[in-house]
Amino acid sequence: MSRATELPHAQRVLAVGAHPDDVDILCAGTLEKFRRQGAKVFIGIATNGDMGSMLLQPPELAKVREAEARASADVLGAELLWLGYPDEFLYDTAEARPVFIEMIRKAAPDLIITHTPDDYHPDHRAVSEAVFGASFVAAVPNVLTNTEVAPTIPPLYYMDSLGGVGFMPTDYVDITDTFDAKVRALECHESQMVWLKEYNDVDIIDFIEVTARFRGLACGARYAEGYRRAEVWPRVPSRRVLP
Ligand SMILES: [Zn+2]
Repeated sequence: MSRATELPHAQRVLAVGAHPDDVDILCAGTLEKFRRQGAKVFIGIATNGDMGSMLLQPPELAKVREAEARASADVLGAELLWLGYPDEFLYDTAEARPVFIEMIRKAAPDLIITHTPDDYHPDHRAVSEAVFGASFVAAVPNVLTNTEVAPTIPPLYYMDSLGGVGFMPTDYVDITDTFDAKVRALECHESQMVWLKEYNDVDIIDFIEVTARFRGLACGARYAEGYRRAEVWPRVPSRRVLP
């Protein structure tokens, strides 16, 4: 059923984050590694991030954040799929289901990466649920949208929680060689460097370095990203699909 089980690693990868900088914080080192190994990489972003500033009003901020996300996707050689839902108000609803299905069908991935279902932010949890549901239904032939039915129900891997809290990885990716690209991608989100420092007192570059060092410690690498497989039929691959 799954093409991915016949390949050494995935060839078409879709990473879906709730906010414009989530994928960079949690899995950009892996996406860059995929790209260097010849995979086609898609980044799906569910919300427009329009609540992440005390300096800019939401409509203006949404434009800034989309531009930042496009710059970041360019650094990673990825195609951006921007859904534009309002920040802080994302739910896995009947209205959202076909939108997520369309995103997945456009990417036709043989691997999906998204938020862990119990992450800290309600939008992250909603994305996790929405992606799980839509990635199953996207392969159902009788569910019609504008884009061709997805060829497979792909393996689904959850990326780390923020700060690694409550998350025990089943798989690790050594990102020692791609950590620089992860930093460059994240630095494209200039508005968030300021916001995270002022609102959360977080230096986000330091944050991702500490997390990557800690995950690296567990697997014998200088820097790593951790993942957990969704252990449900028919998504469990018989071979490693991560790079
Ligand atoms: Zn987020």
